[in-house]
Amino acid sequence: MMLEDLIPPGRTYACKVRTVAEGLEPKDKDILIAAVNNPDWNFKTLSNELAKRGITIVDTGIAKHRRKQCACFRN
Ligand SMILES: [Zn+2]
Repeated sequence: MMLEDLIPPGRTYACKVRTVAEGLEPKDKDILIAAVNNPDWNFKTLSNELAKRGITIVDTGIAKHRRKQCACFRN
């Protein structure tokens, strides 16, 4: 199959957190998702630490994903 990712523009149900996570190696992806969902991580601190490692996700994006208010959790 070669067209499995053929989806209409604007109908991608993934927020920045998941979009970035999908582009990472599996281990990095697990670490990122775990950090995003870990309440010990302050949103702003995590955003800053990710930025130091070349990953740009704004703190509000992290907050929305953790609170399940992002596109990932919409039907
Ligand atoms: Zn999300």
